[in-house]
Amino acid sequence: MLIALTWLELGVGVTSNPYITALLALLMIVLATVSLALFKNKAFCRYFCPVGRTVGFYSQLAPIELRPIDPLLCSQCVTLECYNGNEAIDACPTQLVMGTLTQNTYCTSCGNCLQSCPEQNVSWRLRPQSHEAIQSARPHWDEAWFMLGLMALTSFHGLTMMPFWQTWIEQLAQIVGDAEPYLLSFSFTLVISLIVPVIFYSLTVVSTHKLLEKGQVIKRINKNSAKENRVEKKALFTGLVFMTLPLAFAYHIAHNLNHLVREGTGLQTLLLNPLGTDTQALTMMEKHERHFDMLISQDALFIVQGLLMLFGFWIAVKVLRYRVRSLLTDTGWRLLPLYFFIMTINGFHLWLMMQPMIMRI
Ligand code: SF4
Ligand code: SF4
Repeated sequence: MLIALTWLELGVGVTSNPYITALLALLMIVLATVSLALFKNKAFCRYFCPVGRTVGFYSQLAPIELRPIDPLLCSQCVTLECYNGNEAIDACPTQLVMGTLTQNTYCTSCGNCLQSCPEQNVSWRLRPQSHEAIQSARPHWDEAWFMLGLMALTSFHGLTMMPFWQTWIEQLAQIVGDAEPYLLSFSFTLVISLIVPVIFYSLTVVSTHKLLEKGQVIKRINKNSAKENRVEKKALFTGLVFMTLPLAFAYHIAHNLNHLVREGTGLQTLLLNPLGTDTQALTMMEKHERHFDMLISQDALFIVQGLLMLFGFWIAVKVLRYRVRSLLTDTGWRLLPLYFFIMTINGFHLWLMMQPMIMRI
């Protein structure tokens, strides 16, 4: 779904063509309605909505959470009104039981459980930054693929806004005999952009796994038999993929900050005339000028973006270090391929940030 939306957005031009934008909105409404008709509760929010999934995964980095005040009370609860709802308040739309909740991922923060719990045992609370990605989120195979895809699509989105992108696409279109709007060429680059980070991450995990085996690094638990002590590739793959979340998130925010700073000057006009009554479309020159009329200076923007990238790097290293420590005994220098992965992805994002960005609207 996320891939399809990216294809719609970038390939078909959903950000620049109002007709396609309206079609996308319609598609989302149809999908939400159909899933409401076919499945229990809000299945669309939990399983299909790409925005919900993206925000859900990023929320593992959030410094706040909605959790039971007293877990013991939940363990003795028989009515589970947070899950089932009651006469006045609907059930949890994503079928979560507060007493067993350890991840923000599927919580939409609707607040139903806050109101339905008869013991008033649910509350917002602060937690250490990225605590969930570092410590409490459990690795799942399908979620690992989603996180890798999210990082790859985030990088790809930035790449398509570089000045050289159009030249690349046109050259590729000439080779494959593709005509405007170059859907075939675009789809090809989208697939490549998804595959390359996955291969890079897989090679990193495989080489780390080899180094760990050579160094006879063993699992922190299961000290009983030699077989059980072996570090599995799958456990490394799914357990360490959380380090891609802060990398994607930091770049996502830094990239969108560019949009906000360059397009935010039109906010006052929008608020004063939300329906755009009697307004004319901007000329190319006016659009160009508007992007240089920024809310803050270019230098200030670079500094904030640089700090965001540094933050992403720091959290990614923290996630890696904690997750490895919880999985394995002393690894020494054998994590170098994983540090190399973090530095390469972050360096690539930083390089993208330093390029002039082409606005589509
Ligand atoms: S949050 Fe309230 S309703 Fe839900 S399990 Fe805990 S005590 Fe029961
Ligand atoms: S806030 Fe809403 S989605 Fe989240 S656990 Fe409570 S009822 Fe479920």
